[in-house]
Amino acid sequence: MADIENNVHKVVIIGSGPSGWTAAIYAARANLSPVVYVGVAKQDPGPILPGGQLMLTTDVENYPGFPDGVAGPEMMMKFEQQARRFGTEVVGEDIVRCEFSNDGSPHTLHTSNGKAIQAHTVVISTGATANWMGLDSEMHLATTGGGVSACAVCDGALPIFRDQPLAVVGGGDTAMEEATYLTTFASKVYVIHRRDELRASKVMQERFMSKPNAEVLWNKVVTDCLSSPDDNGNDKLRAVQLKDTVTGEESEFEVKGLFVAIGHTPATKFLRESGLVFDDAGYIDLKTRSSKTNIDGVFAAGDVADAKYRQAVTAAGMGCQAAIDAEHWLGDRGLH
Ligand code: NAP
Repeated sequence: MADIENNVHKVVIIGSGPSGWTAAIYAARANLSPVVYVGVAKQDPGPILPGGQLMLTTDVENYPGFPDGVAGPEMMMKFEQQARRFGTEVVGEDIVRCEFSNDGSPHTLHTSNGKAIQAHTVVISTGATANWMGLDSEMHLATTGGGVSACAVCDGALPIFRDQPLAVVGGGDTAMEEATYLTTFASKVYVIHRRDELRASKVMQERFMSKPNAEVLWNKVVTDCLSSPDDNGNDKLRAVQLKDTVTGEESEFEVKGLFVAIGHTPATKFLRESGLVFDDAGYIDLKTRSSKTNIDGVFAAGDVADAKYRQAVTAAGMGCQAAIDAEHWLGDRGLH
C-alpha cells in the first residue's frame, strides 16, 4: 500500500472562480503546492462551467486593473494562468463528496472519477449559481450575450442596455437592488413579479419606486423570451411573452434586456453530509471575518459563503484570506 502520508496534499481547492484561483495563487506562492479541482461543465439546470459565473458574463467592467473591461472567460483564463505560473496543479474533475476529519488528521475527498484524495487543508470555493426561470430561450440568450442576464451589476452598464427599456424578474431584495441600479442606465425599468406584493424590504422597494423611470408589472410571469437577429446575425432580445397569473391572459411586452433575479443557490449539495454548518439559505456559515468554517482545516471563500456581495473582486479577496488562513493552519502544526 502506498505511504498515505506522502500523498497528503497540503491544500486542495475546490472550485475555479475568482476565489479558487486567488487562493491557488497565494497558496502556490507560499510553496504549498495547491491542487485545484476545477469541476466539469454541466447543466444543473442552467449552465455550470469550470471558471464559475464569470464564464457566463460578457464584459467585466468593474474589476480593478482592467480599465477597458475584460471578457469574463478571458479574465478567468488569466487567473488560471497566474495560478499555474507558480506551480498550481489543476485537475479537471468534480469533488463529489467530502469526509472531513474532526481531529486534525487529513480530510478525504472523493472525486468524480471514483478516486479518493487526502488533504491537510481544504478551501471550498464552489460559488453559487443564479436561479433561472427554466426557459430554453432564456438560456440561449443568456449564454450568447443576447440581452438576458442574471447579474445587473455585472452586465447592466453594457452599451446594449443603455437608454433601453429593461425588465427585472423577481420580487425580492436582489430584484429591487438590480432594478434600482438599472434605472441609472435604462430609459425605463419594469419589475415583473408573479404576485401582487413584493417580498423585498420596504426600504429597498421605496428606493426603486422613487425613481421616475420605475414600474412594477404585477401578477405576471415570463413564459418566453422573444428575439430577432441583429446586423451580425446574433439573436437579441426584443420582447418577453408574459402571462397574467390571475387572469391567465398572455401578452407580448417589448424590452431590450431581461435580468433574472429570482435568487441564488450556493453550490453546497456535495457537502450536505460533511458536517459543515450552513446558514438558513444554505451558504457556508463563516463565524468570523476569517475564512474558517466550523471544521478544523476547512476554509471557505467566495459566493459559496457570501450571500451578500457576490462580486468577483470580493470573492478574490476571500480566496486570498483562505490561502493565508490555510498557510497559518499548516504552519501552526509544523506541516509547512
Ligand atoms: P429571494 O428573497 O428568495 O426572492 C426571490 C424572488 O424571486 C421572490 O420575490 C420570488 O417570488 C421570485 N421568484 C422565485 N422563483 C421565481 C420564478 N421561478 N419565477 C418568478 N419569480 C420567482 O431572493 P433574493 O432577492 O436574491 O434575496 C436573497 C437574500 O439576500 C434575502 O435574504 C435578501 O434579503 C438578501 N439580499 C439583501 C440585499 C441587501 O440587503 N442589500 C440585497 C440582495 C439580497 P415570491 O415572492 O412570489 O416568492
